[in-house]
Amino acid sequence: MITHNTILGLKDDLLRERGVVKNVGFVPTMGALHEGHLELMRRAKAENEILVVSIFVNPIQFNNKEDLAKYPRVLDTDSQLLESVGCDYLFAPSEMEMYPEPDNINYDFGLMGEVMEGAFRPGHFNGVAIVVRKLFEIVEPQRAYFGEKDFQQLAVIQQLVKMFNLPVEIVSCAIVRENDGLAMSSRNMRLTPEERAVAPKIHLILQKAVKLRNVLSPEELRRWTYDQLEAVEEFNIDYVEIADSELLQPIQHWNDCPESILFVALFLGKVRLIDNMRIF
Ligand code: AMP
Repeated sequence: MITHNTILGLKDDLLRERGVVKNVGFVPTMGALHEGHLELMRRAKAENEILVVSIFVNPIQFNNKEDLAKYPRVLDTDSQLLESVGCDYLFAPSEMEMYPEPDNINYDFGLMGEVMEGAFRPGHFNGVAIVVRKLFEIVEPQRAYFGEKDFQQLAVIQQLVKMFNLPVEIVSCAIVRENDGLAMSSRNMRLTPEERAVAPKIHLILQKAVKLRNVLSPEELRRWTYDQLEAVEEFNIDYVEIADSELLQPIQHWNDCPESILFVALFLGKVRLIDNMRIF
């Protein structure tokens, strides 16, 4: 694996690689890699000749200073994991390299960008869109891989690609969970042992909830899930929503859309966790 910290260095190498007609698969991350990230990478490596991974803790997508300051940064361990999945190029730029001057673009994702994470983390998706578009322009991948763990982010990126006809195929990958059901996340390592022991209740409650689809309306099911989560003393809920999988809008009736998803965001101590589950 070759590591580049500069845009020019990476572009130079990729230009040479592409000369021999090779497809580039790209996985953008913020590092502190876990099995969830590695699954995206294994798939990208299997489906493309070249695998490029970026590690960049993007300051402009954080609306909470403490979250940014405490975000785990473990580049050495990450590099070893990347070698183990056959990553060809790691792009690990500095903040100056990515933002030599402030970026003032304002994307409008419409209603999709205003609900859930959009409402609770003002500016978050704009920051995500700015960095992802920049990374796409640098790496020029044929395919880019994103996890359904961040379902709304995936929808926003698909929208970004549509809005600007970006020449990249977005591939979505299922959520990877710990054995006890907790969705893997770099932020999980910030949980205390006590908090870590409580965290799998999120998945347990989501699992129970989706089974009630035939007996409850969407609003009743949303309320039921909210109450179950609220009953866990350690949880501090941001939102519980049931929304369609395309525009992410709350639904009133099950047949309002072909596919609905139950979304949750909550604080466990100082750590904010998100999860979601398809409702069949
Ligand atoms: P992050 O480093 O948190 O920005 O995540 C980088 C990519 O990995 C994003 O596309 C995430 O959705 C994806 N990802 C993170 N955690 C998981 C997980 N548990 N399962 C599947 N994909 C994940």
